[in-house]
Amino acid sequence: MEALLRWQHPERGLVGPGEFIAIAEESGAILALGERVLEQACSAAADWCERLGERPFRVSVNLSPRQVCEPGLAARVGAVLQRTGLAPGALSLELTESALMEETELVAQNLRDLKALGVGLVLDDFGTGYSSLAYLRRFPIDAIKIDRRFVAGLGVDTDDTTIVEAIVRMASGLRLDVVAEGIETREQLLILSAMGCPGGQGYLWSRPVAPDGVAPLLGLATVSQCGGTEPRA
Ligand code: MN
Repeated sequence: MEALLRWQHPERGLVGPGEFIAIAEESGAILALGERVLEQACSAAADWCERLGERPFRVSVNLSPRQVCEPGLAARVGAVLQRTGLAPGALSLELTESALMEETELVAQNLRDLKALGVGLVLDDFGTGYSSLAYLRRFPIDAIKIDRRFVAGLGVDTDDTTIVEAIVRMASGLRLDVVAEGIETREQLLILSAMGCPGGQGYLWSRPVAPDGVAPLLGLATVSQCGGTEPRA
C-alpha cells in the first residue's frame, strides 16, 4: 500500500496533492509535512501489521526531493519507526529520479543510512524522468515502480507493452523488485503476470481510501466505527 496525501480543507473540501505539493516544496513546508505523513503512515501501518500477525504487509511513503537531501534524514526516519513501533522492513520509501539527480554526497549518504536502518528504497515513476540507468547501480535501490503511463498502454499500445516488458526483465536481472502502478483492468494484470512482474497497485484493487477504509481491504474487521469505512478519496 502507498500512503497518499489529501488535504481536508474547511471550505474547499478534499484537495488533491497536485494543488499543494509544489507550493509546499517551494516554501519548504514539505519537510514538516513529509515528516507528519511518515509518522501517520507508520503509526497506521504498525497497527495493521500487528493485527495481520504473520501475514506480510508493507507501506510505501513518498519522499520529496527536498527531504532526500536534508541532513539527518535517516535519523528522523529511525525515530519515527521507534515511536510508532513499525518494523523497518515494513516501510518502503519512494524517491523520484529528480531527487537523485543532485548526486551529492549528502544524498548518497542519506540513502546508505536509510538502507542500514533496514527500510526499503524504491525508485518511483521509473521511465518518465531522465531514466539514468546508472542510478540503479550507484544507489542502494531495492525496487522500481513502473509509471502508470506505460501500464495504461498495456495490450493496447505495442510500444508501451515493449517498454514495460523491458523494465520487468531488466529489474529481474538486476535482482530488483518491481511494482507496476495504475493497474485498472484484469487484462493489464494478466499481461503483467505473464511478463513475471511481481508487484502491482491500482484501482483494480481499490481507489484511494481513508485510513478507516483500509482494514476491510486487508481482510481485517473494522475497529473504530466513528469515522465509518466509506472511501473518501
Ligand atoms: Mn509514489
